[in-house]
Amino acid sequence: MKLATKLIHAGVFPDPTTGAIMTPIFQTSTYVQEAPAVHKGYEYARSQNPTRTQLEAALAAIENGKHGLSFSSGVAATDAVIKLLAPGDEVICTNDMYGGSYRLFSKVFEKFGIKFHYVNMQDAENIRPYINANTKLLWVETPTNPLMNICDIAALSAIAKQHSIILCVDNTFATPYLQNPLDLGADIVMHSVTKYLGGHSDVIQGALVMNSDALREQLYFIQKSCGAVPGPFDCFLVLRGIKTLHVRMQRHCENGEKIAHYLKAHPKVKKVYWSGFEEHPNHVIAKKQMRGFGGMMSFELKDESVEAAKKVLSSTHLFALAESLGGVESLINHPATMTHASIPREERLKNGLSDSLIRLSVGIEDVDDLIADLAQALG
Ligand SMILES: *Cc1c(COP(=O)(O)O)cnc(C)c1O
Repeated sequence: MKLATKLIHAGVFPDPTTGAIMTPIFQTSTYVQEAPAVHKGYEYARSQNPTRTQLEAALAAIENGKHGLSFSSGVAATDAVIKLLAPGDEVICTNDMYGGSYRLFSKVFEKFGIKFHYVNMQDAENIRPYINANTKLLWVETPTNPLMNICDIAALSAIAKQHSIILCVDNTFATPYLQNPLDLGADIVMHSVTKYLGGHSDVIQGALVMNSDALREQLYFIQKSCGAVPGPFDCFLVLRGIKTLHVRMQRHCENGEKIAHYLKAHPKVKKVYWSGFEEHPNHVIAKKQMRGFGGMMSFELKDESVEAAKKVLSSTHLFALAESLGGVESLINHPATMTHASIPREERLKNGLSDSLIRLSVGIEDVDDLIADLAQALG
């Protein structure tokens, strides 16, 4: 089945009791049993909920995986993956990544004795010096947030397999429309479903997808034991959101390409970070592993002062000044003070994230209106 068909049909089926074509919202905390321990597979809603079951099946299908698990947020999904580890274990992660992942790793898990190495993975070979007998997990984000660097998933997977290291890829930015990490050798795909999969800026949710039965068992155990599960209404919203992922992503990509080129040609813009440009340092890898370049990009002005950037950030009308991304509406964001403020300034600058960087989540509005909005804000 092709992706567009899977997004609409995979994992879901009409309600057997009524024929309702849409998955019902099973707003219940428990299920009546016929006799002690005789039930229909549902005992208590932290462990199982039918709305969630259908969503998890759909998530697995669209990422070409065998098992899906959904969580109450993207960071809850990340948290579950790190809980596979034990004190003394080490993780190698992408240096330029989502600020909340960095915060979770450095502020929560480090104190439990897990060690994290932040490495520039644009060349997969860069991870080799950090591998030792304690290395258990490779955490990869590509494209990276907010600098749009690309890591070669297949090359990283080859190295991880040599050393029996679990490879988890945060596929939030690319979505299964553009990239399928499991097909490239990843063991786990993580999503902030909040973003493109939900797609309408109305739900917080996370997901993990995997092929291994053993990993599924361990992660399901963590999901149920730690309890960061999404509510049934949120699962319903995401089931609805993913049905249109392909048409939304197609437009995000088209609008993204036009805006990236518009900004690049603008006299006040110094640099645009978008992997669709031939001169992007990882363009060849992007073309190899992605089916398009998406609607996320960042840029810097020639006037490198924070004031100049802040002026643009507060002058747009259609691009709303907000954290998050991946919704139908366009957003503009200042990573240094908003999404990435949890990363120490020194660390940010080392990774190339300047104080004046502006990030765009290009929505699916008419691109002429979006360009006019940027034109007036830059002018
Ligand atoms: C937003 C985001 C997360 C965290 O997800 P939440 O749903 O906000 O908890 C993780 N990774 C990336 C790339 C994100 O953009």
